[in-house]
Amino acid sequence: MEPLIPKRKKTKKIWVGDVAVGGDAPISVQSMTNTETTDVEATVKQINDLEEAGADIVRVSVPSMEAAEAFKNIKQQTNIPLVSDIHFDHKIALKVMEYGVDCVRINPGNIGSEKKIKEVIDVAKDKNIPLRVGVNAGSLEKDLQLKYGEPNSDALVESAMRHVKILEKFNYDNFKLSIKSSDIYMAVESYQKISDLIDQPLHLGITESGSLKTGTVKSSIGLGILLMQGIGDTIRISLASDPIDEVKVGWEMLKSLKLRSRGVKIVACPSCSRQNFQVIKTVNKLETELSEIKEEVTLAVIGCYVNGPGESKVADVGVTGASPQHLIYLKGKPAYKVDTEDLEKSLVKEVMKIAEQKSNTILKQ
Ligand code: SF4
Repeated sequence: MEPLIPKRKKTKKIWVGDVAVGGDAPISVQSMTNTETTDVEATVKQINDLEEAGADIVRVSVPSMEAAEAFKNIKQQTNIPLVSDIHFDHKIALKVMEYGVDCVRINPGNIGSEKKIKEVIDVAKDKNIPLRVGVNAGSLEKDLQLKYGEPNSDALVESAMRHVKILEKFNYDNFKLSIKSSDIYMAVESYQKISDLIDQPLHLGITESGSLKTGTVKSSIGLGILLMQGIGDTIRISLASDPIDEVKVGWEMLKSLKLRSRGVKIVACPSCSRQNFQVIKTVNKLETELSEIKEEVTLAVIGCYVNGPGESKVADVGVTGASPQHLIYLKGKPAYKVDTEDLEKSLVKEVMKIAEQKSNTILKQ
């Protein structure tokens, strides 16, 4: 039976540099630098590392004019589309637009006078630069806090729609929107509500979701629910961890939901006393050794015959642990046997071979 792949809500397609967001575009994976933006060398390195890890878009905080000047150099030394994160100061937004930013995260309602808003939107229109409206439960307007007593999904949606209305007034629809909360229920409800109200692409995230472990669980639940309902066009997993982890978790989420594919997907059994080799140790080593591969390859690493043949049948490469030798499967069929000491080497070799074949096929197309 074919898996039930979530049907995406059709949103307006916008372009962040050369990456399409919304419409029929693949769901993009984002992260954000956590270096000092004024430290150009460190920020460029982190952006390039994030791109290598699979980020489609990277956001950079630009809190001052000094940071805007640094951004100019950063932009010149990187290839991936960059979003600048700006709060309140429209002059910084104008500066980074002059310096080639691909998207500006700024809330029009926080810019100030209509004249200032118009200035930003005029330049954005002229240079075809999208904006990202970002509403966050932690920084909800005071009057909405008073009206609703506490942040809730209605308050967040009302806040978001205020910004949307301003953009509508200026006839500007080249924007995406996020509506975040650290509370999963509130975030999911807010995204569901706003998705019914606007056709702009949605940037999904559970804000301040916590450490690598906690944040991964919270984001997977929240974003998983939304993505399975077809809501969401670009994602950022907010983690109090290395930004590279955000990209890795984002990709795992999309791969798990069969929404996108990239790199080696390892299917492994949890292992038990039936295992005929050390499954966990082997998987950890393979994960590191195969992390550079970008082509889609499935690898089944299973400790014994209970689940080995079944999982290996549907993988590009598989191993079923046995005694005295383990059985390697290629393209779902038993191929040859190996000793424990040769197992990792053989699996790496077979995965590399398949990745190379796939890469050649893509190049020929
Ligand atoms: S596949 Fe075999 S080794 Fe792995 S958990 Fe199941 S019974 Fe244990």
